[in-house]
Amino acid sequence: MKAKKQSSRNSGVVAQKQDRNSSEFEAKSGQRKLSGQTLHGLHGLGPQTKAIHGGEPNRCGVNGPVATEIIRSSTFTFSNTEEMKEWAEGKNKAYIYTRYGNPTLSVAEKKIAALEGAEAAVVSASGMAAISSSLLAVLHSGDELISTAQLYGGTYRLMRDVFPNMGITVHHVQPDLCGIEKRVNARTKALYIETPTNPTLRLVDTEKAIEFAKKHKLVALIDNTFATPVLQNPIRLGYDMVVHSATKALAGHSDIIAGVSVGSQEWMDKVRQMIIYLGGSMDPGAAYLLIRGIKTVGVRVERQCENATAVATFLEKHPKVERVHYPGLKSHPSHELAKKQMRGFGSMLAFDMKGGLPAARRFCDRVRLFLLAASLGGVESLVILPIYSSHYNMSDEELKRAGVSPGTVRVSMGLEDKEDLIEDLKQALE
Ligand code: PLP
Repeated sequence: MKAKKQSSRNSGVVAQKQDRNSSEFEAKSGQRKLSGQTLHGLHGLGPQTKAIHGGEPNRCGVNGPVATEIIRSSTFTFSNTEEMKEWAEGKNKAYIYTRYGNPTLSVAEKKIAALEGAEAAVVSASGMAAISSSLLAVLHSGDELISTAQLYGGTYRLMRDVFPNMGITVHHVQPDLCGIEKRVNARTKALYIETPTNPTLRLVDTEKAIEFAKKHKLVALIDNTFATPVLQNPIRLGYDMVVHSATKALAGHSDIIAGVSVGSQEWMDKVRQMIIYLGGSMDPGAAYLLIRGIKTVGVRVERQCENATAVATFLEKHPKVERVHYPGLKSHPSHELAKKQMRGFGSMLAFDMKGGLPAARRFCDRVRLFLLAASLGGVESLVILPIYSSHYNMSDEELKRAGVSPGTVRVSMGLEDKEDLIEDLKQALE
């Protein structure tokens, strides 16, 4: 009797396993059925399902952990020298050393690739590691790059201070891409854009930009940090590579520095090679926190969009505020484009204070709930002056081209109650 019970329980588990392994997702009576394979690459799932289950191993059966394992090992064993030889000859894809790859990093990579609708991804130690490794996977000495001028300051400084010494010429255009045709020549290899832009939230028309890149056979790269994969997926439009500062909304809790590049397997093999050469690999502990953060990115971004709309609407009516930069406002120059190409208006906004820098400083020194800190995409709402953070070390001319004025305050919306946030703004603006 006991044995029978045992066997039926065992067979139940086996049956469940077989069932799960039997097929990929199937629509059955309106319900989706899970396969035992990792969910990466499977179509028909909603983005939040992909964020939670994408890249994860089969988790059915007794005693299986629900959370992702951190494989905190710098190096991996082989059974024999024959296996090692095959690895060296590229005949097997075994893990050898964490700078080359690691099972925890692989989960993060498959999850983000699934979210962006791409074939593959490569995680890295920071957004700048992702950006530099992706661009260097494309560009060589003598090549030219066209980039929007309104960029995260670190990316702009990489193009201004490092690329020219490597023989790479960079041409900048405004977010409306005006005059871009005049910038292209036989040496132009790539187009790099960031949308919405940092910090004034102008949008680049992603369809127009990719059309231009395809026409001139340029490799198209886009920084999707501000929009997040929740609000736009440029790979689906034909972009070759998407880069993120995963430090921001993807990880979402202001507790790690992380980056990711996303694209075809072919491009990601090249980016991984750059990560291996230059050493910008991610730590498995950071990968764990990134994976945990990604699981809630959908609900966080939704709430942040709601808070940002409430705060932008409040600020727009305030007599001490000159101008609010939020694509969700009808007054914003990119409002119509945002409605067309994004699924929400985003968690970032900026505003210009009447009274310029002194007024902006006074405001930032008086906030209580908002924290005065760089970065974005976390659960806490933050304010910052771009001229003292992302856009430090830039001339007046460069600031003007980047759309930054000294009285610009950038706001990253968190998840607090919007009524409390507005109360804090009121008292800080008094
Ligand atoms: N891209 C954007 C849009 C950013 O805002 C940042 C950082 O603020 C980066 C890239 C660089 O990312 P990280 O700081 O993770 O290197």
